[in-house]
Amino acid sequence: MATDTSDIELTAQCLCKAQTFTAQVPRASLPLTATFCHCTSCRHLTGGMHSTSVAWPGAADAIVEAPLAEYVFSPRLTLLFCGTCSSPMFWRSRLEARADAYEAFTGVLSNNPVPGLIQVKDHIFVNDTLDGGVAVWQRHLNGDDAKDAPIPCYSDWPHKSEELDPATLSAKDPETTPDDIAVHCRCKGVSLVLRRGAADFAAMDPAKLPFFVEPGTHKLLAGFDACNSCRKMSGVDVFNWTFALLQHIDYPGGDGSFPRTTPALKTAVSSLNRDPRLGTLAMYASSADVQRYFCSRCSASVFYAVDSRPDMVDLAAGLLDSPDGARAESILVWALGLMVWMDDVKGGWREELLDAVNRNSEAWRVDRGIPRNWAVIAREERDAKAKAKAKAGAKS
Ligand SMILES: [Zn+2]
Ligand SMILES: [Zn+2]
Ligand SMILES: [Zn+2]
Repeated sequence: MATDTSDIELTAQCLCKAQTFTAQVPRASLPLTATFCHCTSCRHLTGGMHSTSVAWPGAADAIVEAPLAEYVFSPRLTLLFCGTCSSPMFWRSRLEARADAYEAFTGVLSNNPVPGLIQVKDHIFVNDTLDGGVAVWQRHLNGDDAKDAPIPCYSDWPHKSEELDPATLSAKDPETTPDDIAVHCRCKGVSLVLRRGAADFAAMDPAKLPFFVEPGTHKLLAGFDACNSCRKMSGVDVFNWTFALLQHIDYPGGDGSFPRTTPALKTAVSSLNRDPRLGTLAMYASSADVQRYFCSRCSASVFYAVDSRPDMVDLAAGLLDSPDGARAESILVWALGLMVWMDDVKGGWREELLDAVNRNSEAWRVDRGIPRNWAVIAREERDAKAKAKAKAGAKS
């Protein structure tokens, strides 16, 4: 077979489209290899459960000249992000005696129809998660699950640590976790608390619990989201949201004065006389009825709010600082085996990656005998009904 000498055009584009970067990539140089970093800092920087980046195959000039916001992450690493919509775009790493090197966040890359465009090389800093984080659902992402060796996981940097199996890590004392869970971005400009709300949920008619509250346990659903807007905003291909009533979000040591509705939140953040405790919380309206909240200093995604649900927000799961571990299973219940908005990624390289995450999480559930959760079942029933209705409609 002749070697394919054609190039593909890869773009890195932020959610508001103000920042677009293009690279011509020879097919022969593919795949690009990604590192998933599960460290505490990356989770609080993106709002996702890890960061994920590849060496940027394009020229650096356009990046150097672009009006990107900067956040100094460490002496060696600076984050470059869109100041309008908060999409993390690139890491700039300062290499000794060499020019700067750039890595692109994979979540902002175009979804080219090139299967295997990105291969996951390793998972790093997995020990920071305490419980293995989402690395446990990402062992086989590069093709044939049954045949491929698991993607290596390291407790720290690969050159500084041994490989480990994240499934051997376990949550710390989930029963002793506090009622209030700290919620903060990397720079702590956004610093809030999430209340469990156990008493409130217990007082509700069980039939009227919010859709994201597990009957009986009153844990909050944490989902897997393939939506294009969420991956662009966070830089992470699969975004994990949990959900909260605004009445359960407050300032640390607070008095319940955090805005209780999404219109009130919008007004509070936009006000010239804003409450200083809102800190660096900023907003980008990604459509007429949707507000996306983020940290204006470090870029972390914080909330997704939509006008039709005024009493609640989607909350970025990576911001939770639950003492039991990154998966925060003392308060969250994960929608294993359910990836929503998959239609967004159909036909591109991302479809394979996200399908694999879904298969991995479902296999984990089955292996451990974890029952399918109520929200996954409800979703399937809804989808089946819609399908049946569409079929009946098509016949008539
Ligand atoms: Zn933007
Ligand atoms: Zn990291
Ligand atoms: Zn921040």
